[in-house]
Amino acid sequence: MIKNQNRFVLPDGYKDLGYQNGWRYVYFDEDGNLASETGKPNKTFGHLPKDHPEYCACKDKKHNVREIDNGAYLNRGTDTVYVCDECKLVWHVDSSG
Ligand SMILES: [Zn+2]
Repeated sequence: MIKNQNRFVLPDGYKDLGYQNGWRYVYFDEDGNLASETGKPNKTFGHLPKDHPEYCACKDKKHNVREIDNGAYLNRGTDTVYVCDECKLVWHVDSSG
């Protein structure tokens, strides 16, 4: 079965934020506060609005983000494309390790 008929192409008017793997990230404690400030153990990690405002705004609004497997077109690694049609934003995740 062919998962993708067409290679993903950035739609007109959409912005590609690149690979999330390379973004700056921080650790949060169990309360959702910055672990580096509270000194509590790391619980989760994520991104700060000052570093990645568009992504964080989208996440805050809990938009319905589409997920597209674009990896069939790469020679190595994977490429999962996330598309928010409300923000007109696109970002990628390489989950190959
Ligand atoms: Zn959005």
